Amino acid sequence: MSPVAHAGLGLLGWQVFDKKKSIATLTAYILAANLADVDFLFYKLFGPKPIFIHQYYTHNIAFVLIVGGLLALLLARGASRWGLVLTGLSHLALDIIVIDTMKPIGMRLLFPFSKTYYNLGFFPFLRRGSWPVMTSTRNLMVLGLEFACFVLPVILFYRRRRGRRFASAAFWRL
Ligand SMILES: [Zn+2]
Repeated sequence: MSPVAHAGLGLLGWQVFDKKKSIATLTAYILAANLADVDFLFYKLFGPKPIFIHQYYTHNIAFVLIVGGLLALLLARGASRWGLVLTGLSHLALDIIVIDTMKPIGMRLLFPFSKTYYNLGFFPFLRRGSWPVMTSTRNLMVLGLEFACFVLPVILFYRRRRGRRFASAAFWRL
């Protein structure tokens, strides 16, 4: 799924688990929610190397637990940390429901212990490629669907508390 949907679950995780509720912890939660897609970023930055094949080495529970666990050390002990790791795992839960059209189909969730691929494949996928393909009406509709399913409900549910939060000085303190 796109960073839009993952950010929605990052926001949800932050609302539910984080104790400090600051801009820094919100950033950490959004990063955790998108963490597994670091392969995509590295592929773009460093070129088409096998280690950066999308969803190949970073879309598994072990990677998220280790890297998410390290990121969680930046937060206060307790629910804030565990919540951040859970938010990282939400990435896999979202990606597994997306229709995968690129081989190998699915993600190796239990890598390095198992190389079995998992994919439920019912949520529409974003087409990647040239700028016209990426900004096609179809892709914009998929992004709208992601926003409607995974961002809007969180914004609406927490709208009152969030308004107060963003207005407080404590939120902006690092
Ligand atoms: Zn992903």
